[in-house]
Amino acid sequence: MPERADDLPPDVDLSVETVAVHAGRPAPNAGAPLNPPIVVASSFRAEGDYEYAREESPTTHALEAAIGALEHGTAIAFGSGMAAANAVLDLLPPGAAVVAPSAAYTGVASRLRELAARGTISLRIVGADDTAAVAASVVGADLLWLESPTNPLLQVADLPACVASAHAAGARVLVDNTFATPVRQNPLDLGADIVMHSVTKALAGHSDLVLGALVVADDADAQALVERRVLMGAVPGALDCYLALRGIRTLALRVDRGEASARTIVDRLAEHPAVSVVRYPGFGTMAAIEVEGGRDGNSADNADVVCRSVRVWTYATSLGGVESLLERRRRWPAEADTVPDSLIRLSFGIESVEDLWRDLDAALRLAVG
Ligand SMILES: *Cc1c(COP(=O)(O)O)cnc(C)c1O
Repeated sequence: MPERADDLPPDVDLSVETVAVHAGRPAPNAGAPLNPPIVVASSFRAEGDYEYAREESPTTHALEAAIGALEHGTAIAFGSGMAAANAVLDLLPPGAAVVAPSAAYTGVASRLRELAARGTISLRIVGADDTAAVAASVVGADLLWLESPTNPLLQVADLPACVASAHAAGARVLVDNTFATPVRQNPLDLGADIVMHSVTKALAGHSDLVLGALVVADDADAQALVERRVLMGAVPGALDCYLALRGIRTLALRVDRGEASARTIVDRLAEHPAVSVVRYPGFGTMAAIEVEGGRDGNSADNADVVCRSVRVWTYATSLGGVESLLERRRRWPAEADTVPDSLIRLSFGIESVEDLWRDLDAALRLAVG
């Protein structure tokens, strides 16, 4: 492993914008490349820092250095966000009790239900924004799984309060920080034990790869999770790690821009005749709206018309890319039935805010005429 994985002065306290630009670079020696090499090798000559790429690999290390610096811990990269999630679930003792939010990311929610149905874990479902219910549910639990804001209802958990009640009950806390991003929230600083990212989304930011990461403060946790990755085989590829690292360079700019557009458009949507509900947590690049039923009263059909009518927005799943995306979440059978049928999730990219507004406004007027 290289000694340095950034070109920053080690004795200066730097902000997230600067860290995003500089973390994960080769040490600043004369002649050093500014970017880490994309090392395409499964095997390395014996008795050095690296041996076999399912265990450790140089380009992955560079990405991990950057994500770790952004989230104030040790990062372990995985082949997807779900692979990261499964590494954590694989460490639970048999019969473990897991507390999870009522509308969590569908992949995680489905996986938790599957493990509960098999009897591998017992599952307790709570509203992430119901701090008292979380406190009651964590008694006797092993793991509190949180998202904040949640996908797609944008509920915000009181993280310090939830962490305090979980730790008092002896439960560990994982926070899926995909929606907030490390530019807006650092859960380890709020007491969480594990931070999870779908790097696929805002961190990589260009809708061109699938990757995940876990970040922990504790060295023993980091070792255990690296071992899960080695044994479960959920390793990322070198090119994807490089692309994700390149995406991270502009993370703070993209979040600032998307958030500014979200604020502007969310305020206008609150007044829009075709919109019944607007959900926005007050920060970040994600929002959700519910569409009115209009004359024929079918709000879900109207939401589908909105999705199919936009031309600047892209009708596609996923989020966090430079392009603004939207979709009606309940088109997915796995989505929680607590999510309203007409709810459209909005992921704000970096296009002109007025182009985004005109496009969405026109699609809404067409759908709810
Ligand atoms: C996409 C997503 C995941 C899953 O990540 P993948 O990279 O698709 O495996 C987990 N949590 C949240 C909040 C997500 O948006």
